[in-house]
Amino acid sequence: MPDLTNKSYNQGDWVRVEKDGTVYEGKVMPSEKGYITLKMKSGYNAGFLESKVKVSLLESKAEVLESPGKGQSPKQASIETSSSSTEGAGKLPKISILSTGGTIASKIDYRTGAVTSQFTANDILSAIPELREIGDFKGRVISSILSENMEPAAWEKLAEAVVEEIEAGADGILITHGTDTMMYSAAALSFMIETPVPIVFVGSQRSADRPSSDNAMNAICAALVAGSDIAEISVVMHGTSSDDYCEVHRGTKVRKMHTSRRDAFKSLNSKPIAHVDYDNWKIEPLIAYTKRGEVSLKFKPGLETKCALVKFTPGAEPAILDSYIKAGYRGIVIEGTGLGHVSTKWIPSIKKATDAQIPVVITSQCLSGRVCDRVYDTGRDILKAGAIEGGDALPEITLVKMMWILGQTNNFEEARKLLGTDLKGEITNRTLQ
Ligand code: ASP
Repeated sequence: MPDLTNKSYNQGDWVRVEKDGTVYEGKVMPSEKGYITLKMKSGYNAGFLESKVKVSLLESKAEVLESPGKGQSPKQASIETSSSSTEGAGKLPKISILSTGGTIASKIDYRTGAVTSQFTANDILSAIPELREIGDFKGRVISSILSENMEPAAWEKLAEAVVEEIEAGADGILITHGTDTMMYSAAALSFMIETPVPIVFVGSQRSADRPSSDNAMNAICAALVAGSDIAEISVVMHGTSSDDYCEVHRGTKVRKMHTSRRDAFKSLNSKPIAHVDYDNWKIEPLIAYTKRGEVSLKFKPGLETKCALVKFTPGAEPAILDSYIKAGYRGIVIEGTGLGHVSTKWIPSIKKATDAQIPVVITSQCLSGRVCDRVYDTGRDILKAGAIEGGDALPEITLVKMMWILGQTNNFEEARKLLGTDLKGEITNRTLQ
């Protein structure tokens, strides 16, 4: 926390900052000592070295708190950490925020220059005051890790927490998560949970104290979806590189497609479920979706972690597949070329796996489009060796699906059948793109 004792402004105040002839106005956010971070009206945050700027007070914190917006009382706007509901909050949907870490919960550590996960759900909520106009929030910390450190055991722990919150009466769940592996977690929950309420993953590509942070807009759009009738497990992130709308992606059709752009997430082989217009906070559905209350809550945990995703590359040795068989892996997803191919050299190893009752699913490294192993000789031979076509499902999502299926059944034929069937929207009947 900053030491603001001898300053002319406090955390929460509206101030004007002048730096090199440019003027910035915004609310003072929690900042490192020696720094001032502003949240500006645009939703962006800007951080400055205090010694390099002139700061003037525009409006004191007390005045800001008296006008929380859209007719909510300040009490209603406060962030609850227990399940007790605040007076008058009944009209807003009850949304549980489960924080797991990632950039959306991060700031720059000014000593090292690295971005580290430091904020809890409640810090996020107090940093984005607009959220209090959208829901009656409850915060819960599941973990504070970057998502590259997520593991299947963490997906199960997260799923358990989600189910507990829904059973306790949450109208929607908002999961703040690192973007790198968000689609794996979203897929894992999609297979494990049947949900009567929205379960929404949100992250940000740039941390809150960077001027171009996408955290506020993403969190606001995601909270709107969490309170909506879209009872799906979805990922909500920027739709373009501007601040115009967010996209709501189905958790089994989404992929991070860019390392740094704010609109890094795309739905592949499907349209997004909806757009969320950031200017007027309106959700526009684009495809059919499961509506609130249409299904009842069901939870089927259990993931087999000994499943591998193997990318075929020209000249790659089939010994790669053999090593997984030897290591006792229970299932293998292959990311093949084009329509779903591997070299002829790999086919005996596929046969070895399926003979050992290890299912092998073929997906495509093209990502867009559908696998079809009936066109070329190699494809036909791959099918003869017992491999299953993965349809237009993404390789990573197919891996998570395999983990879940093999966590539910030991029956090879049943597993094969399920692997080729659409379970949670991961395989569409007709590929659109
Ligand atoms: N490496 C970070 C993570 O996935 C990146 C992010 O959150 O955007 O946790």
